[in-house]
Amino acid sequence: MVSEEAHLLIHGASGRMGQALVRLCGEQPGLRLVAAMAGRQAPKIESVPGFSAVQMDELPAFDVAIDFSLPEGFDAILDRCLAQGTAFVSGTTGLDARQRARLDEAAARIPVLWAANFSLGVAVLEDLVRRAAAALPAWQRDIVESHHVHKKDAPSGTALALGRAVEEGGGPAPHYASLRAGDIVGEHLVQFTGLGERIELAHRATSRDIFARGALRCAAALARKAAGRYRVIDLLDEGGADRC
Ligand code: NAD
Repeated sequence: MVSEEAHLLIHGASGRMGQALVRLCGEQPGLRLVAAMAGRQAPKIESVPGFSAVQMDELPAFDVAIDFSLPEGFDAILDRCLAQGTAFVSGTTGLDARQRARLDEAAARIPVLWAANFSLGVAVLEDLVRRAAAALPAWQRDIVESHHVHKKDAPSGTALALGRAVEEGGGPAPHYASLRAGDIVGEHLVQFTGLGERIELAHRATSRDIFARGALRCAAALARKAAGRYRVIDLLDEGGADRC
């Protein structure tokens, strides 16, 4: 049983997202950071002076892990959560079909939340896109995503999630376009085009902190859940969506 403060492990802690998580985790009630892990090549965590990353064989007990790493690091941390019976939150994108299937298998034993995007705005955008697709079955659909030059996967996980929302609404499948430029945090445009008119639904993230805060709130809630697969919108709502 999880005590008042769930013990948190951050995996991928030296990365862009990991640094934001380590910096912001003190703001999230119900969570206490007990360990931060990074790849063997990157043990420094610049946002918290004096806090060094630990390796897998040095981990203390924890109640919930947040993983924002790369597909190469995903299996080992999921294995560790399964071995310890702890909750697993992951925002790592570019997972292959085997890794995505593992999330469902794991959910039979531990609470699991994987999301391509932890912002409340994108959760609402998915719903708007599903409704627009259902209302405009004959219109062309295009999804344009823009990210910083270091992003490895394309189309982004969020673009693919928005594409699934389009397909759930019905009508033709969407086309994707990906731009990589400068330090863009993340922008997604879903465009529905008819004859002589067009609808554009867009989300622009200007700070990684929205993803980090969303993941931390979800982790605090997930640590207290039974085994199963959960969605961001359910857990953010529990914490009071107006705080996002
Ligand atoms: P990054 O490259 O800055 O950091 C990656 C981190 O993973 C580093 O700490 C690195 O040391 C670690 N790592 C890499 N390989 C590893 C391995 N084999 N084992 C253990 N650790 C390993 O990346 P980033 O910009 O922080 O993004 C991380 C992931 O999160 C990406 O998949 C990105 O697409 C995704 N992302 C998701 C959201 C969301 O809301 N879901 C938002 C932003 C980014």
